[in-house]
Amino acid sequence: MAQSTDAVAVSFEVYPPRSPEKMPDLQESIRVLDSVGPEFISVTFGAGGSSTRDSLEVLRFIRDVSSATPLAHLTCVGTTRQEAAELVATFLGEGITQFLALRGDLPEGALEHHGELEHAVDLVTLMNELPDAPKPLERIAVAAFPNGHPESHSLDHDVETLLRKQEAGANLAITQLFFYTEHYLEFVEKAHSAGVNIPILPGLMPITSPGRLNRVLELSGESRPTELSEALSSTEDSATREAVGVDWTARMVTELVNAGAPGIHLYAFNQHRTVLSVLEQSGVR
Ligand code: FAD
Repeated sequence: MAQSTDAVAVSFEVYPPRSPEKMPDLQESIRVLDSVGPEFISVTFGAGGSSTRDSLEVLRFIRDVSSATPLAHLTCVGTTRQEAAELVATFLGEGITQFLALRGDLPEGALEHHGELEHAVDLVTLMNELPDAPKPLERIAVAAFPNGHPESHSLDHDVETLLRKQEAGANLAITQLFFYTEHYLEFVEKAHSAGVNIPILPGLMPITSPGRLNRVLELSGESRPTELSEALSSTEDSATREAVGVDWTARMVTELVNAGAPGIHLYAFNQHRTVLSVLEQSGVR
């Protein structure tokens, strides 16, 4: 049985809709997600600043309409120190005081970084040194990779990277999605042994179709979870596929909560139904 319940902190990630017509649907989903009392709702950011305006619009909506704290993803790839400082100041000016500091990914074909901030740790340091920012910022979260970042040569290097981010002032880590609880637990153990003591929040995404699975594997570089992949492909029925994805993720939530994870972060894909089914089925909400 999962630990009960409202004691388990939950949070969600959404992204700025690709077209303005989709904004009302996202706003409705945010309202429904808010009904289960998330600690924060994070909003993704297009590397290079391509989504600044749209990300801000979603963050403002969360700020004004929900009881959850808006948390802004920001990336530093390709930006100068000055540009990054201005970007953070813009968000702070909107009352956004919690951030996920990321490097972001280089645009396809780019061979090298052209910015001054090479790694996420540089953005964390910059955030902590901003002259006009409240010190320390309420929250500076960073990414963590239980199965290794695609560019990393070893898991020890990923742990070392996380430790550097903590030393620079990060106070929360949110993981890349993963499909097996033990991968998270092994990473957390390694990180703790290396001196990481900030909470490492497991990030989970309920996958409800083979197409979605293929897409997230391509984007994340994660290995294919064979059993999940086969179960999703064994039927054409969308309701059955949804049940497969929800069952898989709800089981992981139960295992993670029982193992003492500091909360559950769900990649909501701008929809509320699937992630709320996961929380309900696992007994967390
Ligand atoms: P870094 O911490 O800079 O790490 C990148 C690579 O460099 C890693 O291999 C790391 O080990 C290595 N490295 C780091 N520091 C050093 C150093 N000092 N010396 C040598 N090597 C080093 N992308 C977006 O564009 N927008 C988003 O909104 C977004 N949201 C995300 C949310 C989460 C929870 C996660 C897990 C990822 C998200 N990403 C997003 C993707 C992320 O930007 C990419 O995974 C990117 O490749 C790495 O970002 P990072 O912040 O981990 O970078």
